[in-house]
Amino acid sequence: MQPPPAQPGMPEDEVDTPALILDLDAFEANLDAMAGYLAPTGAKLRAHAKTHKSPVVALQQIRRGAVGQCVQKVAEAECLAWGGVPDILVSNEVVSPRKLARLAALSRISNVALCADDADAVALAEQAAEAAGIRLSVLVEIDVGAGRCGVTPGPEAVVLARRIAGSPHLRFGGLQAYHGSAQHIRSPEGRAKAIGAAIDQTRRTVEQLRQQGLECGIVGGAGTGTFPLEAASGVFNEVQAGSYAFMDADYAANEAAPPFRHALFVLAQVMSVPKQGLAVVDAGHKALPTDSGFAKPWQRPGLTYAGASDEHGNLRVEGGAAPKLGEKLRLVPGHCDPTIDRFDWFVGVRGGRVECLWPIAARGAMH
Ligand code: PLP
Ligand code: MN
Repeated sequence: MQPPPAQPGMPEDEVDTPALILDLDAFEANLDAMAGYLAPTGAKLRAHAKTHKSPVVALQQIRRGAVGQCVQKVAEAECLAWGGVPDILVSNEVVSPRKLARLAALSRISNVALCADDADAVALAEQAAEAAGIRLSVLVEIDVGAGRCGVTPGPEAVVLARRIAGSPHLRFGGLQAYHGSAQHIRSPEGRAKAIGAAIDQTRRTVEQLRQQGLECGIVGGAGTGTFPLEAASGVFNEVQAGSYAFMDADYAANEAAPPFRHALFVLAQVMSVPKQGLAVVDAGHKALPTDSGFAKPWQRPGLTYAGASDEHGNLRVEGGAAPKLGEKLRLVPGHCDPTIDRFDWFVGVRGGRVECLWPIAARGAMH
């Protein structure tokens, strides 16, 4: 872990670059807004920690009503549990006996659950739970359109749920039904169509399970792009949004998205102005992943982040105030999750000054 790039009390402009800036007013407004959205619905937040990678953020979400956290990795679950998070769902498949043993051990300090989409994976979870002398909760993941993990909704899911329920050291925990590819469909009509179909498939599966005497404790899914639909469905009781707390340029491009604020920025410094129309900053691929497009300069009309190499970002200057050598500016990341994973510290800023430094404790936790 690198030393923090800032100290409390410092003006933002003195923060060493590149740095991950968290605008605390916007961040807290986003957490409050999500709590407000969900309060009148039948769904609770189980925020996804793959985004923030930090017990500090998790506990603030839980204080505002979240029932717990999702993670994708056992190492993320460990980091959260050690940091005091009491309820963690691995919204993902785990089939390594070593990883399952770690998860089973963790269940002594935190409620943990995982997902399965295969009878062999259920058998492996049963072995790990038996060896640890505990009972693990396992959800059946169904593929509701994303084409990633998950069994086909309906009878296949019922067969797997029965197998879980019939395993002496496992408990059937419910359904995982996340439609990933719907999150960034730009039009609200397109998102509604995709999620409408996902809701129908999930409802049908919940009913078929109930007919077999299998009640779903958790019916979970949804991300920042679609959660109002799942939350209003009467079928889902947990939503798993993560990016909403920070926002990024890709989610901001969704039409009619709930109005979360940009709270996350990479602060970069202009290190070269080699010719007219070009300014080069010290944040390239290593600070700003580009899987969802380039970052966007924040409140700087005329500037476009137009190209990157490992440690360089090229800003095209087509008007507005030309950036000066040494100047620091904020960039809105294209995709918040992998961007956060590039940094060791959130630099929390309010009113132009650094207020706090939070470790991104699960940075790189991929095992
Ligand atoms: N749930 C699961 C299982 C996911 O994989 C994801 C993101 O890919 C999410 C929820 C939603 O996250 P976000 O709100 O950051 O898009
Ligand atoms: Mn993401």
